[in-house]
Amino acid sequence: MSFETWKQIIEKAQTEFKIAHLDFNNWGEPTLNKDLPRMAAYCKEHGIHFRISTNLQRTDGLDAVLANGADLIWASCSGWSQETYGKTHEGDFNKLRDNMVWLAEKKRSLNSRTQLIIRWHRYRHNCDEEKEARKFARQHGFAFEAHVAWYLPIQKLLTGPADETAKLLLVPIGEGLDAVKDLPRPKTCPEYSSVHVDANRQAKLCCLTYNLNVGDFLENDIETLDAARQKHPFCTPCMEANALEYLAKTHPKLLWMAAKNATSTDVRLRLLFEILVDTTLRLGRRIPIPYYIKSRIGMAVKHRL
Ligand code: SF4
Repeated sequence: MSFETWKQIIEKAQTEFKIAHLDFNNWGEPTLNKDLPRMAAYCKEHGIHFRISTNLQRTDGLDAVLANGADLIWASCSGWSQETYGKTHEGDFNKLRDNMVWLAEKKRSLNSRTQLIIRWHRYRHNCDEEKEARKFARQHGFAFEAHVAWYLPIQKLLTGPADETAKLLLVPIGEGLDAVKDLPRPKTCPEYSSVHVDANRQAKLCCLTYNLNVGDFLENDIETLDAARQKHPFCTPCMEANALEYLAKTHPKLLWMAAKNATSTDVRLRLLFEILVDTTLRLGRRIPIPYYIKSRIGMAVKHRL
């Protein structure tokens, strides 16, 4: 996407709703866009909070992102050796690790306040390597955010066919969806509160898919796009399956399943502790503390687990 088109999208969005956060990711790799430095500079100039998620196979434009005060950069990772990483990520593990070191050093030299986070995807095959990745994160000033891996796009989750990656999931699809089908669910999908636009200007149904679109973002007003989302035929089976609850993997039932399938004691104990934290937070919903503060506490605890 060119800088000009991107700017048109931001300007239109600002006339239609308040942008709380701008995320440069979701089914794409931001460092591939040569205009990333200009986009970061624009965000700084206009006071827009922005975040980046990258596989760190390249670092192009990330110095500008650090210099322009992005809120955070997530480095996505699913293994601490080429053999493990290569099963669930395309790319070179050594390059990823070297680029993480580069990023940490660059942040120091620029005196940047951007938070750096390793986003670790937990699978059956990488439990043994999580400890090593955490150690690296501590040494280089990254926070560590581990979550039970997702399986996407949403169509593949609900209609299959499952592939080799599905066999590595800590919460098997069939068992997991079965466990959540009777749990309470929101009346409206929470995904409707965020807007996702792809590199071809297409507004997507939600962030869980790359090919269910509802219209050109620049040619349709937000009310039209919202209406198209809310009557999209795929949402009915998705809501009926309670797929978002399955994907969030924060419900104690699912965390318990993940703990049983974890292949290291360290990860098993961490998941059991997450069950404790999650149960406490669920009880805490009844205490009148603003949601923002609760979620900050939840994130702070999660990063230290
Ligand atoms: S109901 Fe499912 S498919 Fe529809 S917007 Fe929500 S998460 Fe996406």
